[in-house]
Amino acid sequence: MIREQLHNVLEEIPEHVTLVAVSKTKPVSAIEEAYAAGQRHYGENKVQELVEKAEQLPKDIHWHLIGHLQSNKVKYIAPFVALIHSVDSLKLLLEINRQAAKNNRVIPVLLQFHIAQEETKFGFSFEEIRELLNSDEFKNASNIRIDGVMGMASFTDDEALIRKEFKLLKTYFDELKSTFFSEKNHFSICSMGMSGDYKIAIEEGSTMIRVGSSIFGSR
Ligand SMILES: *Cc1c(COP(=O)(O)O)cnc(C)c1O
Repeated sequence: MIREQLHNVLEEIPEHVTLVAVSKTKPVSAIEEAYAAGQRHYGENKVQELVEKAEQLPKDIHWHLIGHLQSNKVKYIAPFVALIHSVDSLKLLLEINRQAAKNNRVIPVLLQFHIAQEETKFGFSFEEIRELLNSDEFKNASNIRIDGVMGMASFTDDEALIRKEFKLLKTYFDELKSTFFSEKNHFSICSMGMSGDYKIAIEEGSTMIRVGSSIFGSR
């Protein structure tokens, strides 16, 4: 079941798009099934759940933290996390930098933008990012690497609205790329698209989709 659903999603996405299988709330056995089918990137939105699963599963899995992250929890994932999608404050970014240094590594992160109409979604505005990237604190943070942007569209049936929000995120990505990261090849990730909207996201330039229920079933 999981294997088939995984393949159905993979069949629909072009090669340049990375699939992060969102395994939150699902048991280790579900991940093992997808792992056996070849899937290596997994996304979790809670630190404790991510750590517990990582301990039980093969070490070549790339673990993505996709949910809101509290600064005091960064230390638990800093030794091994592959990518943090949900950086939404300078304070959090600096704590990731501090914990990465302690672990002698560079942690790749994405800047989360607020693109949805809804008030509740976390994320920066473009002005805030511009300020952050120009700050000395950021320039001195040598143990983080900004690999791109992430955003979530509104939870709605209104396809035109979803498309507009993804377009906006892609504009932000392009603008940051040309202004701040033109010589940085690693700045290449536009993380957008979930089960309900990843096809639209890919049409609008997504390079990384985060898909849970279409692979593992509803939660
Ligand atoms: C849960 C979650 C997803 C996956 O959602 P599905 O609709 O199950 O595909 C993607 N991104 C984030 C940030 C999430 O929290």
